[in-house]
Amino acid sequence: MVDSYRPKDLKDALRIRGEYGSTPLAGGTDLMVRYQSWAGTLPLFTNSVMFVGHLHELKYIKKIENSLEVGGTATLSMVADHPDTPRVLRDAVLSIAAPALRNNATLTGNICNASPAGDSVCALYALDALIRLEKNGSSRELPVVEFITGPGRTLLGKDELVTAITIPLKNSSIDNFTKVGTRRANALSKLSFTGIADYKNGRIDSIALTFGAVGPTVVRSVELEKKLLGLSRAELKAGKESILSDYSTVIVPIDDQRSTAVYRKKVALNLLDKFINEVADYE
Ligand SMILES: Cc1cc2nc3c(=O)[nH]c(=O)nc-3n(C[C@H](O)[C@H](O)[C@H](O)COP(=O)(O)OP(=O)(O)OC[C@H]3O[C@@H](n4cnc5c(N)ncnc54)[C@H](O)[C@@H]3O)c2cc1C
Repeated sequence: MVDSYRPKDLKDALRIRGEYGSTPLAGGTDLMVRYQSWAGTLPLFTNSVMFVGHLHELKYIKKIENSLEVGGTATLSMVADHPDTPRVLRDAVLSIAAPALRNNATLTGNICNASPAGDSVCALYALDALIRLEKNGSSRELPVVEFITGPGRTLLGKDELVTAITIPLKNSSIDNFTKVGTRRANALSKLSFTGIADYKNGRIDSIALTFGAVGPTVVRSVELEKKLLGLSRAELKAGKESILSDYSTVIVPIDDQRSTAVYRKKVALNLLDKFINEVADYE
């Protein structure tokens, strides 16, 4: 048996986290599975647990100037329902599990789980989301791409909590989130794709392309995206084969119980091909 804490507010939660380093438990939809023992018995946690899902100071979503701020205990359903949530993130969140689970699970939990197949994470990489980490007396903010360092690994300090996720709201005329799974609900991704692009004066002004579950973390190559900036529709179309060939060097998936490396790579490149066509044909 381990100790468990139910802080009365955020200040109390930061104190407990600082003093005991207890594992934060929000919706528990990852943790209860990760530490499950036999069906019907209690999970075997190895560290003390601190419940955070009830912390009302963090249960909000608000638009602040040109950003959307998602509080650290906002649920996936809240994210899906908010009118200012970018479409790729809404589609990603709605592809997770099923409504009952989304009513309890948090966006923060999906990020901190740091699974390469975390569906919201694929969209959050493309949206350049920032993660706010707080401890007693100080806070810092990290881009999600820096926060997640490997499968199941993040830069979350032992005394820190994630208190907000900031999503810059940018123009994006063309966007797409696609999840490939065995079925529509309650299935983890075999792979996922997010594409966001915009034109200015007939040339690509911004583009972000991310791939989930095809590497140890979500795959995004800012170098390859830079090569696409400034291209016209015709240049993009003409250069498609070379773009696909570039991306085939950065998409290096593995075989696991959900899919094979060969399938993942083929489908990831097909989704990229389709998105490039969509961008090139955009009126
Ligand atoms: C049946 C089922 C289906 C699922 N389907 C999908 C799916 O399709 N796609 C998908 O991406 N995921 C899926 N998941 C995984 C899971 O539901 C999500 O990752 C969910 O968003 C986790 O949120 P949570 O609040 O339940 O996290 P928890 O289990 O409470 O925590 C997850 C991690 O986040 C940490 N954490 C939580 N809050 C904080 C905080 N404020 N500060 C610091 N660390 C924190 C915890 O310590 C833990 O390491 C599924 C899970 C189940 C059980």
